[in-house]
Amino acid sequence: MEQQERLQILKDIINIDSTNGNEEAVANYLGELLSRHGIDSKKVQYAEKRASLVSEIGDGGNRVLGLSGHMDVVDAGDPEKWTYPPFEATEKDGKLYGRGSTDMKSGLAAMVIAMIELKDEKKNLPGKVKLLATVGEEVGELGAEQLTSEGYADDLDALVIGEPSGPRIWYAHKGSMNYTVTSYGKNAHSSMPEFGVNAIDNLALFYNEVEKFVASVKETNPLLGNFTHNATVISGGNQVNSIPELAKMQGNIRTIPEVDNDEIKNVFAKIVDKLNAEKNVKLELVWDYDKLPVFSDKDSDIAKIGQAAYEKQAGQKIDLVTSPGTTDAAEFIKAKKEFPVIIFGPGVIETAHQIDEYVAIENYTDMIEVYKEMIIQFLAEK
Ligand SMILES: [Zn+2]
Repeated sequence: MEQQERLQILKDIINIDSTNGNEEAVANYLGELLSRHGIDSKKVQYAEKRASLVSEIGDGGNRVLGLSGHMDVVDAGDPEKWTYPPFEATEKDGKLYGRGSTDMKSGLAAMVIAMIELKDEKKNLPGKVKLLATVGEEVGELGAEQLTSEGYADDLDALVIGEPSGPRIWYAHKGSMNYTVTSYGKNAHSSMPEFGVNAIDNLALFYNEVEKFVASVKETNPLLGNFTHNATVISGGNQVNSIPELAKMQGNIRTIPEVDNDEIKNVFAKIVDKLNAEKNVKLELVWDYDKLPVFSDKDSDIAKIGQAAYEKQAGQKIDLVTSPGTTDAAEFIKAKKEFPVIIFGPGVIETAHQIDEYVAIENYTDMIEVYKEMIIQFLAEK
């Protein structure tokens, strides 16, 4: 494919505004593009105007390599603050500006183009490459959750997530959980508190128990560090001289394999049960978000292949490191079979979600070559 066409594809999908939705327009665009090169794809509908896209190339037989990217982008904020309009991709001094240029339409486009070029070049692919383009990554990894539960990740032998990691490869990240706890009390005049039940006091009992548990945890992960808990939102009561009948708290937890999501859920459930057994305490706990930690083998062949392919293309050695945030991998690893994951794509996390987000064009086109090399190397082995 000509360089100009590679760039135009990326510009076209940046120009589709898929802010927390409307991913189906991106899926349609990519589906038609693949189809023009003789590659079938399938939309997996999530909601109105929201569909993930799955596509495969290869001759089968050997291993299956998953390539995944999300099609949604985060809100562009005030367009007036952008040097160039966020949904009119603009080339300037070797950079391409626009919302999603780094996070992560360049990774997505590079994966799709790598598949198309290998197909057009009639490369012998003794295995399968499977594209998993998802909806709603930024707001809960919705597409990855749906694709995994419908079995689309069950045949993977390795997975590459094309998030902006550059220039390095991520192979592990913490899990993330959000909860809401509601405390129900009873209103009374604050001069006669004995007639009421103070919802804030009971919420504080919960908070103290949780913090006691947090302080008792000794396990830590040598690379990801400690598991963390933070109360992040709190509300309760409505008048200073009334005993509050309702109080609410939300919290965020970052988990590690040693203190994982299931363990946290068990501990929290026990705390709530214990407190609810006390007189006048009524707490209700809801998990709003539940993403697993990802901890892949640093020495997996997909990690080695990625490192070697990047060095060959860009002439630069890159490190394997841990990532600060969660990705779609947190859902895909719930598939039937265990497989290694790397997070490796064009762009740099430092410009993601920001005004004047951009990707270096050379980095984008390098990654097309890197993905092609990785596919060839990975599928060559049985
Ligand atoms: Zn992203």
